[in-house]
Amino acid sequence: TCGICVEKCPFDAIEIINLPQELQDEPVHRYGENAFSLYGLPAPQEGQVTGILGPNGIGKTTAVRILAGELEPNLGRHEAEPGWDEVLEAYRGTELQDYIADVRDGDITIARKPQYVDQIPNSFDGNTRQLLERTDERGALDELVDRLSIGPVMEQSIDDLSGGELQRVAIAATLARDTDFYFLDEVTPYLDIGQRVTAARLIRELAEEEDKSVLVVEHDLAILDLLADTLHVAYGEPGAYGVITSPKSVRNGINEYLSGYLDNENMRIRPNPIEFEEHAPRSVTRADTLVEYPDLTKSYGDGEFSLEVEGGTIRENEVLGVVGPNGIGKSTFAKLLTGNLGPDEGDADLDQNISYKPQYVTIDQHMRVDAFLSSITDQFGSSYWNTEIAQPLQLERIMEQNLSDLSGGERQRVAIAACLSDSADLYLLDEPSAHLDVEQRVQAAKAIRRFAEQQDATVMVIDHDIYMMDLLADRLMVFDGEPAVHGRAGQPQQMRDGMNEFLANLEVTFRRDERTSRPRINKPESQLDRQQKSEGEYYYAP
Ligand code: ADP
Ligand code: ADP
Repeated sequence: TCGICVEKCPFDAIEIINLPQELQDEPVHRYGENAFSLYGLPAPQEGQVTGILGPNGIGKTTAVRILAGELEPNLGRHEAEPGWDEVLEAYRGTELQDYIADVRDGDITIARKPQYVDQIPNSFDGNTRQLLERTDERGALDELVDRLSIGPVMEQSIDDLSGGELQRVAIAATLARDTDFYFLDEVTPYLDIGQRVTAARLIRELAEEEDKSVLVVEHDLAILDLLADTLHVAYGEPGAYGVITSPKSVRNGINEYLSGYLDNENMRIRPNPIEFEEHAPRSVTRADTLVEYPDLTKSYGDGEFSLEVEGGTIRENEVLGVVGPNGIGKSTFAKLLTGNLGPDEGDADLDQNISYKPQYVTIDQHMRVDAFLSSITDQFGSSYWNTEIAQPLQLERIMEQNLSDLSGGERQRVAIAACLSDSADLYLLDEPSAHLDVEQRVQAAKAIRRFAEQQDATVMVIDHDIYMMDLLADRLMVFDGEPAVHGRAGQPQQMRDGMNEFLANLEVTFRRDERTSRPRINKPESQLDRQQKSEGEYYYAP
């Protein structure tokens, strides 16, 4: 091995990787002898949004605690800690010099949005209005509430908010503050694409119009691309060491990250590139029908919400993507398929046996991961299960942990594994990307596709991450309408038609990056944006 890994080599010793230059210098901080070390720091800039792209456990929070003045970096010397003056000396002549001088003088104030918004109700009693009013330091709260559509839940108790509502309240609470430095740890989980784009625009406006420094960690690459001015790539070995690179342009940073090779650093961070094939559309070869459903309607209560579904078929052995805003009836449709809900109109024998991973993962019993998973499948531990499920979902390292001790991303991976391990006619995964880092999303997408192919299984995936959908789906089912009032679902269609319909509703167009073919959001009203809209090609543009 290359000598830097404390655990199993993340590259399976396929390649001897070159030792990064940074590891020959002293770290910014080391938590103790043989403990996690951080090399390099991100450089917040006034008037700019700085992004960090990298896996969890790589030291992003550690870096932010240093930049917030909460953690005094020890430059790797835990016996005789250097103190801020010496740290400042170490950064003299770098872009961080002025910033660190301010931190040393206690001049930096920070507002921060935590990664796991689901935990906010544990630390706050009261309703949305009470939470937000305390944060209204810039006089911008009313606009934030309006643009993030928080109005309808202002009087609701924080305990009763959904994940998507909590996420928007947490973003508003952070952006409403008046501080020097804003840190947002993942803005997109549980938000639909429209809400993601709105959040990205609000964050950009805060930086540009108020001249603030904003640092974001984000794993939805389409949104990161839209959001950030510059990008630091973070790499290393989670839990052992992390390196934060110098800033790169967002385009180069994302491309280099995907290619697995950092140009300036001359560093390979992954043996294989992450590739986006331009399948436009992915051709479906097998066309046996798993379920054919007629036109269906369903409404709740005395018609507060109503859903209309156009009759269609789900094919055997396909991955069917499902897209549409939150609150539009996607889960309601899933319940109609399982027979858990009866339709108001539409006669059909809809009692598919469905293995379902809900959007909000609630597995948190006091039970070990291995005990939990082996209670679901007798395939547990077989070589098939290990290769196709456990390995791509990186479960080996957490098998002996308790479900209740897992992080959000770990819990998500266990829940995906549990869903795919059950035996069912149809596998339905609601937002499997939430809290996974970029690499884990790709691995999960591949695992789900291979599962469908190898097990002749049929999978429906609801997700808001366009990259993940691009990697995953054969066909697309599009929901639109007015959230919480009326939803309409069309038939499953080819990817190109589905993406065009979906993105036309949102008025967002994508182009392909020349180097990697990854989809990128066009600037509204740019030449490409206008041209693609006039041609009706929102996604698979030439
Ligand atoms: P990220 O934000 O990228 O997920 P963190 O900065 O939270 O990563 O953590 C990086 C590593 O440092 C983790 O392995 C974590 O366990 C370790 N770590 C964090 N805080 C401490 C601490 N106070 N003492 C020792 N190790 C810590
Ligand atoms: P999605 O999955 O697209 O987010 P859902 O199908 O969960 O949407 O919900 C659509 C709408 O129906 C939402 O406004 C939701 O609040 C409402 N709704 C869902 N279930 C019920 C129910 N059992 N009773 C009343 N309203 C419901």
